[in-house]
Amino acid sequence: MSQRYFGAIINNRVILNDDDINHILKVMRMKINEEIEVVYKEKVHLCKIISLKPLDFEIVATREENHELMNNITLVMSLIKGEKLDLVLQKATELGVQEIVLLATSRTIANKKNFRLEHKINRYQKILKEASEQSKRIKIPYLHRLIDFSELKNIKADHKFIAYESAGGKTASFLNGLKNIKKGESISLIIGPEGGFSTEEINLATLNGYQIISLGRRILRAETAAIYALSVIDSYLEKK
Ligand code: SAM
Repeated sequence: MSQRYFGAIINNRVILNDDDINHILKVMRMKINEEIEVVYKEKVHLCKIISLKPLDFEIVATREENHELMNNITLVMSLIKGEKLDLVLQKATELGVQEIVLLATSRTIANKKNFRLEHKINRYQKILKEASEQSKRIKIPYLHRLIDFSELKNIKADHKFIAYESAGGKTASFLNGLKNIKKGESISLIIGPEGGFSTEEINLATLNGYQIISLGRRILRAETAAIYALSVIDSYLEKK
């Protein structure tokens, strides 16, 4: 299966960023006649290497394929520490999330005061891009800026869930909530930080139309909760 990259096709020329060119030449050590897939404007272009210095391609085929979910999922992920957030970004991408919003909460342990998304955005974008390429998607999730609970009202979705660790342990509320989701409807899922949610935050979320859901009787790490909840949503949406 050909390696996939997000790039551009301008005047029938394949344009890739330096990281990808380096990956092709130095990491994958690809040769003339080997092929890669380049995703551009949600189409997949099969490109054969015709020159290595400079790296150049011939586009041999273009196809439409779609491994995307039929529903737009926004993951509202509370700030958690370092590589755990990296893991969530990567797994949420593999699980088909289209938008990610980072949320500062009252119990965020991660250093939200000094959290400067602009300093991390390149790393996060690289994680999202590479996870999209690896999982053969034709879209890269959109990463929104950091918000706080007061901005929750700006997130529009047909179905809204907030995973609350003190919700009683029965997943029925979650599974029943999924039953109402129709093809094409949007979903927003909030996952809390290591310190969990305050009752004020839970009240504010419910005022904004979020349904409280339990992910079972155990207390999951935030990153586990995100992956678990998205996996349940995915398997529900993709059963048809
Ligand atoms: N500090 C909290 C406590 O000890 O109760 C745990 C917070 S948990 C580490 C981080 C987030 O994962 C929670 O805010 C919630 O969004 C989600 N989560 C973890 N376990 C859950 C469960 N059993 N049901 C619903 N959400 C859960």
